[in-house]
This record gives sequence, C-alpha cells and structure tokens, in this order.
Amino acid sequence: AKEGVRLRTGNAEMIQLENSINNLLDRMRDSYRQQSRFVSDASHELRTPLSVLQGYVNMLDRWGKNDEKILDESIDAIKSETQHMQKLVEQLLFLARSDSGKTKLNIQAISLNDMMQEVYEESTMIDHKHKYIFKPAKEDIQAYGDISMLKQTVRILLDNAVKYTPEGSSIILKTMLTNNTPSFIVQDEGIGIRGNDIPHVFERFFRSDPARRKDNGGTGLGLSIAKWIIDKHGGYFSILSREDIGTRITVSLPQKNL
Ligand code: ADP
Repeated sequence: AKEGVRLRTGNAEMIQLENSINNLLDRMRDSYRQQSRFVSDASHELRTPLSVLQGYVNMLDRWGKNDEKILDESIDAIKSETQHMQKLVEQLLFLARSDSGKTKLNIQAISLNDMMQEVYEESTMIDHKHKYIFKPAKEDIQAYGDISMLKQTVRILLDNAVKYTPEGSSIILKTMLTNNTPSFIVQDEGIGIRGNDIPHVFERFFRSDPARRKDNGGTGLGLSIAKWIIDKHGGYFSILSREDIGTRITVSLPQKNL
C-alpha cells in the first residue's frame, strides 16, 4: 500500500494540508520513480557498447597482433563504439543537468531567419551527401529564445533527417510566421515515422523498430533534449510524417517574451 500522511482531524484546513502533503508525496514518488528508471535505462544503454568494445579488445588481444584484417576491423569498430558512447554520455549529462534545474536559458530577441541561415550553412559544409534547401520567410521573423539552445534543437532535427533519409535526397529548412506565431521547420524525404510511434518519439531512449534496424548510431535521446529546450521556451512541436514519404517537424515559439 502507498504510504501517505493522515492527520485524523475533522478540521477543514487540516484536511486541506493533509491533501497537499499527500499530493507532494505523490509527485516526489513519481519523480523518484522516473529518475530510477532513467538511471537504469542509461546503464543498460551504456552496457551494450561496452560489451561490444570488450569483444573487439579480446579479439585484438588473441588474433589481431598478426592479422591486419582483424586489426583494421577492430579499430574501426572500437572507434565507432567510443564515438557512440561519447555522444550518449554528453546527452545524458545534458538531461541530468536539466533535470536538476542547473541549465539556464539566456532568452533574447533573435532573428529566426539568421539563426536558421547559420545552421543551414554549417550543415552544407559538414554533410555533402544530402541536398540542403533553405526557404526563409520573406520578412525577417523576430522571436524570443536562447540562440545556442535553439540552434542545438535545429541540429538535433537535422541529425535525424540525415540519419533516417537516403543519401542524395533533399532536406528542407524553413522559417514561417503564421497568425503571429514564429516557427521553424525541418523536413526530409526519409523513412518516416509510423502513426503509432509518433506519440513516443519524445520519450527518453525511444527508438522505432525501423530506426533500430538502421543502426546508425542513434541513442533515442535527441528529441527528448529538443523537447526539454522547446518546453522551456514555452513552445511546442508539430509532427507530420508518412512512412516511406518523409517527415516534417515544426517548432512553434511563443509570440512574446514570456
Ligand atoms: P535517435 O537518436 O534514435 O534518432 P531521437 O530521440 O532523436 O533518437 O528520435 C527518436 C526516434 O524518433 C528515432 O529513433 C526514430 O525512430 C524517430 N525519428 C525521429 N526523427 C525522425 C525522422 N526525421 N525520420 C524518421 N524517424 C525519425
């Protein structure tokens, strides 16, 4: 049975106090449960690349010294597993810091077009396997936000567009002002997200089956970080996606500084 507080008086104020204490206890219990789950999921996710690493190190130790093929294969695998672990640890640290209230936003008036333009240029320089198209709104759009956090959000969306989209296809970036609501959009022509999966994509460690099969170094944490950032801004996401056609993710920001 759930433990709670019973003050056992008929006094209305005391009953109210009792209710609010029990409410608080419930919320603390929930949050504790979520944190324990997060820690156990995180450990589990770190265990997989660690055992792969261990496997390759053992193989190197036994046969790799005289076999160049084994040597090359093991070094490649060790490189990619350590990269994956590094990303995972960075993302886990971001979430741990934000859970404990240590991450503060620096909200300022920003130009959404300039912000997107910069991330767009960055992507065209790093990735030559996709065609990037930027369609800024005709008028410059002013929004309120933490520019480096918003850029990080766009990078997460672009990273997914790249991961789940065949080489050579287009990735479109847009900015828009609809009914005074500033928004930015990342759209791809990739594998899409099943309707049943859409409500889960912001959950920590969630990855759809097709995404897991592609095994492209995803961690299942990118969108939970993006959601934390946009929630803090008082904004929201809209996802439009069709399997094998593509995905469009829109981020809408508040009209005014909150
Ligand atoms: P991951 O590191 O796995 O990409 P995310 O939290 O960024 O983690 O995304 C969660 C899941 O949402 C992905 O594993 C994938 O199933 C789905 N997803 C996100 N973006 C896209 C996209 N652009 N196209 C297809 N699936 C996507």
